Amino acid sequence: MGLISEITNLINEHGSSTILRERVMLLVQKLDNAEKENIRLKQELTDAKAKIRDQDQELKAWREKEQFTEFRGALFKREQSGHYGKTAYCVVCRTPMWSIDFFPYECSRCGFQADFSKKDMDNVFNELLQRHD
Ligand SMILES: [Zn+2]
Repeated sequence: MGLISEITNLINEHGSSTILRERVMLLVQKLDNAEKENIRLKQELTDAKAKIRDQDQELKAWREKEQFTEFRGALFKREQSGHYGKTAYCVVCRTPMWSIDFFPYECSRCGFQADFSKKDMDNVFNELLQRHD
């Protein structure tokens, strides 16, 4: 029986004051238990939401990590098509790196340098595809 219907019955019944008092005390106890249960469930929900948020972030980081392959001191990213893009990413901060002619690829964010340059890119990229595609 729900609390509201119990209270409605209590109001409609005309029993002795001792019986009424006992019933009221019982209802107060039930209400108290329901409040405690409500608090506990809200806390569980908050904890579960936080856990889901943490796991989402872990999954996102893992997926991102899976997209990259380290090769010749740079990262290459697998595109949604499943093929590698011909862009060298920094192994430290995953920023696309740049290179002019024979100057090694360099990260503009952290200064990291790969061990090959734009001139070498075709060979490096073909080597990557032979090994990883
Ligand atoms: Zn970097």
